[in-house]
Amino acid sequence: MIKDSLARKAQKQLYKAAKEINLDPNLLRILEKPMRVLKVSVPIKLDNGKTKVFTGFRCQYNNAKGPAKGGVRYHPSVTEDELTALAAWMTWKCALLDLPYGGAKGGIVCNPTKLSESELERMTRRYTTEIMPILGPHIDIPAPDVYTTSKTMAWIMDTFSMMKGYTEPSIVTGKPEILGGSKGRKEATGRGVALITREFFKANKRNIKGAKIAIQGFGNVGGHAGLFLSQMGAKIVAVSDVSGALVNPEGLDIPALLNCVEEHACIIKYPGKQIDGSELLSQDVDVLIPAALENQIHQKNAQNIKANVIVEGANGPTTPEADEILEGMKIPVIPDILANAGGVVVSHLEWVQAMSGLFWEDEDVNRELERKLTKAFKEVWENSQRKNVSLRCAAYTTAIERIAEVYSYRGIFP
Ligand code: NAD
Repeated sequence: MIKDSLARKAQKQLYKAAKEINLDPNLLRILEKPMRVLKVSVPIKLDNGKTKVFTGFRCQYNNAKGPAKGGVRYHPSVTEDELTALAAWMTWKCALLDLPYGGAKGGIVCNPTKLSESELERMTRRYTTEIMPILGPHIDIPAPDVYTTSKTMAWIMDTFSMMKGYTEPSIVTGKPEILGGSKGRKEATGRGVALITREFFKANKRNIKGAKIAIQGFGNVGGHAGLFLSQMGAKIVAVSDVSGALVNPEGLDIPALLNCVEEHACIIKYPGKQIDGSELLSQDVDVLIPAALENQIHQKNAQNIKANVIVEGANGPTTPEADEILEGMKIPVIPDILANAGGVVVSHLEWVQAMSGLFWEDEDVNRELERKLTKAFKEVWENSQRKNVSLRCAAYTTAIERIAEVYSYRGIFP
């Protein structure tokens, strides 16, 4: 049993849902552990001529529903434990959205901000070569995550293609459009966060126009979520990133703030009132969107939250202890596996397009994204109302029942 770890927290969430649906204990024994974890050494020559050896991982949690699918993260705090939890959440997320995928996550323990572009490229290419034995468009398909981008995906795709001797665009998603990437993929996760927030307001017979929103993390997910929510008429009154936090009760000018981030890679150069980053979570708002890293809302700060709803843009931003506190405070939490599923929905569309060689327009991609997300929201919302359980429990039970059905047909090999 893994103790006091993120993977343990992910297990606790699974056990809660398993209890709710009386899951067969034999199946729980399979689902409580990852299917496969590969740990690799990634040696590269630095620009100064010295050699540095990084540690990388790829965790494939489950593949009953299809190839493992999940991002690659470059961060100093990457651990096998963290990736195992993230890969488990990918498994439930893909099942909840009924995509033909299992779940995976990978990463390298590194500080990408301290590496040059050519060092990042060498590190990515060597990592790809090391995890090659378990990669493939029908085995495991990586995508961007924290501090990895479409360029990282292009390096992975090129390395895989060179090793195989043919061009294989469907080995990654989130790649540049010119290489077979999908329109709308970059914005998809943030767009999904905005759509799910809107659906929550609709379900509660409220209008999102004028709703006050605070966003922690202003990268791909937080930045796009802010943009789409402001286009829906909501007011983004507070945002934060690693550099600090900004507030404006009248609503921040999100396109201008995004331009500032494009130019300076941080929000703090933007003129306006600054607050301490830790104050972001306790702003008096309608919606709080944690869109940075995991474990941000915990036992010690959950009781300070004043938002009426939390929409999890990040993966695992709320600890199980905080979840219980928030449940007691009657603050609903829209779980990550639903709220940030827009990225993997469009990744699936990208994979289908790359395999078929037929490419869709923005409106086709966005229509399908909206259809899938609103359907999943409705399912989770109705499940939660019917069973009188939290949205997280409802999302987990929907996902796990689907995986259980797959096992009921496939059985356990041999
Ligand atoms: P990103 O690297 O583009 O952005 C991360 C942001 O968080 C940056 O603005 C960074 O400054 C900020 N940040 C980091 N630590 C912080 C802290 N302590 N306080 C405040 N801000 C902090 O990453 P991203 O792709 O936007 O991913 C963010 C989260 O969303 C992660 O949990 C990731 O797993 C999850 N996610 C991403 C995608 C995707 O498609 N990119 C899909 C699903 C889930």
